[in-house]
Amino acid sequence: MSSSRRGRITKVTGNMVMVEVDSFVVQNEVAYIIHGSERLKCEVIRVRGNKAETQVYENTQGLTVGEEVEFTGELLSVELGPGLLGQIFDGLQNPLTALAEQCGFFLKRGVYLAALPRDASWEFVPSQKKGGMVRAGEKLGVVTEKIFSHWIMAPFHLQGMLEIVHIAPAGAYTVEQPVARLRDRNGKECDVFLKQTWPVKIPISAYAERLKPQEPLITRMRLIDSLFPVARGGTYCIPGPFGSGKTVLQQLISRHAEVDIVVIAACGERAGEVVETLKTFPVLMDPRTSRPLSDRTVIICNTSSMPVAARESSVYTAVTIAEYYRQMGLNVLVLADSTSRWAQAMREMSGRLEEIPGEEAFPAYLESRIASFYERAGLVRLHDGSVGSVTIGGAVSPAGGNFEEPVTQATLKVVGAFHGLSRERSDARRYPAIDPLISWSKYTSFVDGGHVETGHRILRQSHEIAQMMKVIGEEGTSLADYCVYLKGEFFDFVYLQQNAFDAVDEATSAERQRYVLGFIHRILDADMTFGDREETLRYFQKLRQLFRGWNSSTWQSTEFRSIEEEISRFVSGKIVARKEAANA
Ligand code: ADP
Ligand code: MG
Repeated sequence: MSSSRRGRITKVTGNMVMVEVDSFVVQNEVAYIIHGSERLKCEVIRVRGNKAETQVYENTQGLTVGEEVEFTGELLSVELGPGLLGQIFDGLQNPLTALAEQCGFFLKRGVYLAALPRDASWEFVPSQKKGGMVRAGEKLGVVTEKIFSHWIMAPFHLQGMLEIVHIAPAGAYTVEQPVARLRDRNGKECDVFLKQTWPVKIPISAYAERLKPQEPLITRMRLIDSLFPVARGGTYCIPGPFGSGKTVLQQLISRHAEVDIVVIAACGERAGEVVETLKTFPVLMDPRTSRPLSDRTVIICNTSSMPVAARESSVYTAVTIAEYYRQMGLNVLVLADSTSRWAQAMREMSGRLEEIPGEEAFPAYLESRIASFYERAGLVRLHDGSVGSVTIGGAVSPAGGNFEEPVTQATLKVVGAFHGLSRERSDARRYPAIDPLISWSKYTSFVDGGHVETGHRILRQSHEIAQMMKVIGEEGTSLADYCVYLKGEFFDFVYLQQNAFDAVDEATSAERQRYVLGFIHRILDADMTFGDREETLRYFQKLRQLFRGWNSSTWQSTEFRSIEEEISRFVSGKIVARKEAANA
């Protein structure tokens, strides 16, 4: 498409700039406003006759009517290739570290840097031969990126079977040097580079088929994995009031979840919080690979002080990068914090377009936008038979913690699991503050289903008894009810809660969860008899204390075994009593 199409600004309202054009304009194409020596990136969001409404990804201060605009004919796209891992980008994929080096602490507007370094070279090893046939998305060779074998694939936009007319020998190449040449059925040839570009709002679908997400994605958070599991290739959301622990939970998951790559979209949260992430992440060690965590992480970061349009694009940039690595047969997790800020950006843009507002002034298409974002998650089988996944977890921060608002409600309609954080739990410092009484999951856990059912039942009963005790006092409750209440509290303290500051307790393997939950189930399921309230309370206090030590002992260590024996001895009297009662 011609890149010489031009227009002139006729009106500026905040980040919306109206442009009158001499020829045609394409919906969603990228344009640049020429302001003196600055070129400000914008996107066409509505076309009416020869008028294009554009949203500018930058501060629009100083722009005036009559200034020139240049249209590119390209959709907002990202660069995909080796060199993404370990980087921190803004929503337009500007590498922030490199930008800061060039511009200093305050980012200048209109400065865009290439996402992938141009000077770095990668050792390319071809895996196909000249004359071979491939489809879009199939592997032509690999380079090594950090700990991964990074596939160099036939460009995703190509159609049908492609003949390899040239493939480069093994050797070092930069992302801009061609490594292969493909010819399609119509004889049209196309060079292949280590990098390719892809429009962020279009899903990458160069795979054979979509599969149903079934296998659990182990987060090593007991409350999630055992009670409200997430599936590889599935979706979940974490709504919660301000300060209830959404960000801390996302960070714990980003460190411990059993996936290959994590893409974090820090979207519109407070700048201080984002700076914190940027400072701590590169130095954190990956508990599983003993390498810096940043080696398998990509961060897309927009603070609430950046222009709304750039904020809106950040979730798309994140999910596109995730889909790219899924094409290599990897398991990728996208963590968006928070999707409410993204939705607010949508609302602001919609307001400026003077569209008819829906509920709480959000645009009428809010639901479909949220749905199409989560639909980009998925488990897929690639053309070579290997399987890759993108799992999406989105934090939602509804004002006042009210889950009835449109963003939470629209999200709940499409996700596979709901981890609702409650103010009550976070105030009581019961972390993670996921409320087991309101949360749910449509996926299946790897722990025993019967054990989970018992757990839920005891938690529900315990809660009801606690509510009753608030009214009638402890004295009014029966000893049996009091025991159920304490069982629920015990389960919460020793299993649902997890100490993020304890090196062992902060993450629990699937094997350990299955084992410990089985052990706890015997206690929850037992009919226990006590002489009085005081004895019941002392019994559970002691049990809680024993379990706390057990939780911070290394799995299968001597200490683990000896505490287990101590607990077994302690509970044996009570559990045997139940069997006898059953036999009697
Ligand atoms: P949100 O993102 O929901 O606004 P944060 O994740 O920033 O909330 O958490 C707010 C504060 O709550 C944290 O700074 C921390 O003090 C406390 N907190 C949250 N989760 C935990 C946890 N798992 N363990 C200990 N403290 C936590
Ligand atoms: Mg937060």
